[in-house]
Amino acid sequence: MSDTRHTKVLIIGSGPAGYTAGVYASRAMLEPLLVQGIEPGGQLTTTTEVENWPGDTEVQGPDLMVRMEAHARAMGCEVIGDIIASLELDKRPFVAHGDSGTTYTADAVILATGARAKWLGLPSEEKFKGFGVSACATCDGFFYRGQEIVVIGGGNTAVEEALFLTNFASKVTLIHRRDELRAEKILQNRLMKNPKIEPLWHHQLEEVYGTDSPLGVEGVKVKHVDTGEITDIPCKGVFVAIGHAPANELVKDVLETHMGGYVVTQPDSTATSIPGVFAAGDLTDHKYRQAVTSAGMGCMAALEAERWLAEQGEDAGKDTSEPLGYGVENPAAE
Ligand code: FAD
Ligand code: NAP
Repeated sequence: MSDTRHTKVLIIGSGPAGYTAGVYASRAMLEPLLVQGIEPGGQLTTTTEVENWPGDTEVQGPDLMVRMEAHARAMGCEVIGDIIASLELDKRPFVAHGDSGTTYTADAVILATGARAKWLGLPSEEKFKGFGVSACATCDGFFYRGQEIVVIGGGNTAVEEALFLTNFASKVTLIHRRDELRAEKILQNRLMKNPKIEPLWHHQLEEVYGTDSPLGVEGVKVKHVDTGEITDIPCKGVFVAIGHAPANELVKDVLETHMGGYVVTQPDSTATSIPGVFAAGDLTDHKYRQAVTSAGMGCMAALEAERWLAEQGEDAGKDTSEPLGYGVENPAAE
């Protein structure tokens, strides 16, 4: 059944940025609606221990996100299980169409759609995705008890995934294209001390191979980045952990983006190139991409939305029959 819901503030996304915006917008009596998207709780639901969330020496990512959702709800934020399929930002009220059939109209919008795992783009990676190739150790690690596994990447995610996978795997090979890790030193130390993990430096994944019936991975071929020499590594699981790309699909054609698709916001602000549209968290942040910085930006977005709505007065919710004419000045800005 299709229906229409109007709100002063529509928050799109349920990671740390979205839920924090929900807490602040609720306390500002804006009665926000928050649409959770396909991954309620966001990226932290795909990890285990989080050790850098202030106030918790250690907390499980999924537990933290359950608490954040409860906090937003307790403050009065309405949390909705829906996915925004398209967004119209060229006139007010802004309009968002949900997969459920619900149309959301909003005086202000806070975009907090975060980021998604990147893939290498190999045909064999695509072929075995979900059948031995994964980008989420916490989701799929359990299936590889007693098996050999490879992890691709050299950042925090790759190292954390490799460490976590040692709970199940007999051996984890960390394949990195350089001989220096991007991961934090504390994680590097844990990696080097773990007898089940073997780093393989200066190598790139060339091909995943396996059986067709049933579909399953038997190993990978990796290439030395300098010599081109190919090495065969038998394994049952391949975890790709080469970073994340901003989830900008809803706005990439109407908002200015840079640095590979991150939404541009004004300096020291979450305001985008469209007045009344604010962006927070990993969607805008090519630099820090942390839970705490995302939460901080969610707070800023709600406070800025509140001030912007107050400045608009009665005009905030007024229908603008003509397109606003704001938006991308240089859509190709990189
Ligand atoms: P996200 O958490 O990415 O959430 C985005 C939300 O947007 C999701 O709820 C999604 O469903 C929603 N969404 C997307 N598209 C739509 C749509 N069309 N309609 C509606 N909703 C939509 N950071 C730390 O500080 N400490 C850590 O220990 C840590 N560990 C990590 C471990 C892993 C494996 C990963 C991947 C990341 C880790 N990070 C960590 C980074 C941290 O998770 C992110 O910085 C943070 O989650 C970003 O928050 P966010 O709110 O911007 O977006
Ligand atoms: P990242 O820091 O961007 O690291 C990506 C890694 O993948 C890099 O080592 C990179 O190699 C490699 N890579 C990228 N493209 C590749 C390709 N095509 N082929 C082979 N290797 C490739 O990404 P991330 O580790 O997912 O982290 C993302 C953000 O989340 C970071 O800000 C991180 O701090 C945060 N995070 C934090 C925690 C934590 O605080 N505990 C945990 C996880 C994530 P190069 O190094 O050669 O570029």
